[in-house]
Amino acid sequence: MLDTLYRLQDRIRFVADRQKERDTVPEELTEVDREYREKVDTVARLKQRLVAAELERRQAEGQLTEVREKLKKYQTQLRQVQTSREYGALLNEIDGVEKLVRSTEDRVLSLEEEIETDRTDLAAREGNLPEETQQHEERLKDWRATQRAIDQDLEAARGEIKQLESQIPARDRAEFQRLIDKKGGLAIARVLNTSCSACHVKIRPAALQTLKAGREIVYCDSCKRILYWDPRAS
Ligand SMILES: [Zn+2]
Repeated sequence: MLDTLYRLQDRIRFVADRQKERDTVPEELTEVDREYREKVDTVARLKQRLVAAELERRQAEGQLTEVREKLKKYQTQLRQVQTSREYGALLNEIDGVEKLVRSTEDRVLSLEEEIETDRTDLAAREGNLPEETQQHEERLKDWRATQRAIDQDLEAARGEIKQLESQIPARDRAEFQRLIDKKGGLAIARVLNTSCSACHVKIRPAALQTLKAGREIVYCDSCKRILYWDPRAS
C-alpha cells in the first residue's frame, strides 16, 4: 500500500513538473514568440481601430450635415431680419456655426486620413502574416515536437494515477491528499542513509525497525511526513 502511495505521489509530482515544462516557452524562444504575438495582436488591434474610426467618421459626417443645414437656415433668416440688433445677433450665431462647420470638416478629413493609413497598414500586415506564421511555426518546430512528447508522457502518467487511485481505499486517499496539500506536494519521504530525505533528520533506530518490519505507517518525528523505506534502494 505504501508502495502504491509512493508511486502515486511520484506520478502526481511528475505530472505537475511536466505540465509546467509543457506550458513554458523555452527561454531561447520567448523573444521570437513575443515578436510574433505582437504582430498578430497588432493586426487584431488595427482591425478594431478601423471599425471604430469608420463609425466615428459616419457620426462626424452626420454632424456635418446638421451644422451645414443650420448655417443655411441662419443665412436665409439673415435676409429677412428687420432690425440691426437682430441682424447683429444672427451674425454672431452664424459666426459660431461656421466655426463648428470648419472644425467638423477637419474632423471628418482627419478620420478619413487615419482610415486610409490604417487600411494600407493593415493590408500590408495581413499580407505578411501567413508567411510570418509559417516561419514562426518552423522556428518552434522542435519545441512543438517536445510538447507532443510531453503530452504523451502526461497522458500515460494520468492513466497510471487513475489506476493507482483506484487501488487505494477512499479514506487513505483523502488522508494522503490532505498531507500532500499540507506538505507542498511531498507527503511521503524516502529514507536515505537512515535519515528522512525531506528534512534530513535522522530516524530513531526503533522507528527505523518498525518501518523495516513494514507493518505500520511511521511518520518522521521532525517533518511529520510518512516515511518510506525501499529495501532495494537503502
Ligand atoms: Zn522529515
